[in-house]
Amino acid sequence: MNRRTLLQSGAGLLSAGGPLAAAQQAARRGMPSPKIKAVRVLMTQPAGSQLVVVKVETSEPGLYGIGCATHQERPHAVAAAIEQHIGPYILGRNCDDIEDIWQSVYVASYFRSGVTLNNALSGIDGALWDILGKRLNAPVYQLLGGKARAAATLYAHASGKEIEEVEERVREWMAKGYRHVRVQVATPGYTGYGASAATSAGVQGMRPSGVIPSPVYEPTPYVNRTLKMFEHLRNKLGFDVELLHDVHERVPPSQALQLGRLLEPYRLFFMEDPFAPEDVGWFQVMRQQTSTPIAMGELFVNRNEWLNLVSNRWIDFIRCHISAIGGLNMARKVANLCEFFNVRTAWHGPGNVSAVGHAVNLHLDLATTNFGIQEQNFFEDPVREVFPGAPEIRDGYMYANDKPGFGIDINERAAAKFPYKTPGNNRGIERRLDGSVQRP
Ligand code: MG
Repeated sequence: MNRRTLLQSGAGLLSAGGPLAAAQQAARRGMPSPKIKAVRVLMTQPAGSQLVVVKVETSEPGLYGIGCATHQERPHAVAAAIEQHIGPYILGRNCDDIEDIWQSVYVASYFRSGVTLNNALSGIDGALWDILGKRLNAPVYQLLGGKARAAATLYAHASGKEIEEVEERVREWMAKGYRHVRVQVATPGYTGYGASAATSAGVQGMRPSGVIPSPVYEPTPYVNRTLKMFEHLRNKLGFDVELLHDVHERVPPSQALQLGRLLEPYRLFFMEDPFAPEDVGWFQVMRQQTSTPIAMGELFVNRNEWLNLVSNRWIDFIRCHISAIGGLNMARKVANLCEFFNVRTAWHGPGNVSAVGHAVNLHLDLATTNFGIQEQNFFEDPVREVFPGAPEIRDGYMYANDKPGFGIDINERAAAKFPYKTPGNNRGIERRLDGSVQRP
């Protein structure tokens, strides 16, 4: 783990204390806001993803908060933004001024709404909400208006090289109590999102000479295979289990329109990311052509990418990656706006969201009337060691532990045992048969 610290002039490092006693927390009520004393970037890789977590320490000894700033493809860019720019800018500010700090950091760079600065802002923002919860001795969902549900319904992932394998995985999840499962099957000979064939050797001979070597993706075989999978699954499993699917912005727009219509008989819970963020103009056409429910938006970073989609009711689920849009302070507003158009939330939640980010997702899920579904991520033992208090998962639901703030901590000693293995992932290595770059 790389540990980097920004300190207000003359201040010493604060100790990373454990949970504070309730009496101490109660004594804080009504006290003046503590100041931001230090901003620290904690980088660790306890499982697959390069995680970036921000720790904001305060002028009150032992009081700190943590937030998720994870962008696993470009973690060092986020860290630099926090250490070089945002951290020094907010030192000494009142921790309670969450909205004001968010707005001032948002415009401080003049140019804004980029994924790096949004993630950096999310790390700071999350830590401030965590601090506020601890100060008030309340879980963050309580600060957002309180629980609208007991737990967040999860969807699991099922994939396989063969369609029968996918069926088997779905049955396993159903046996564990899950009612929502995302299904992805490999396309023989090709790579694909969510499930890849063992090799693309069979199609390499179809490529032109001089092509850059790569795994091969082609949209038509993927579409054909996906339709066969849904036909099989509905024949075998019936219609009581909810099935989801992620297109992952991989097909041309006209083919996405065809897929949406052809999937109608299989009644999906949602079809995700049928278009790329660059192609949001196609959603109006899709809405007018198909009744297949549409989820969109893990790559959104700018409000103008999704605002028309929501206000025109062209999508059914908003699926932002919360740290990529600037954190909880923005996401709570997105959720509230969507409520008035009955667009439901389905925040992005795979392994490239830190456990702290999952806790943010969960607290917002619990307090959002128009919550739709939460993507599941299992926290492996090393992740739970680094992040004590990570959300609990039982029988298809995710539960908050009801402790103050987000109820999650970072064990810095444990995090140090899992340094980055690489600087960050690169995507975009897959190409079409002719050698052109395929969106990841
Ligand atoms: Mg997705």
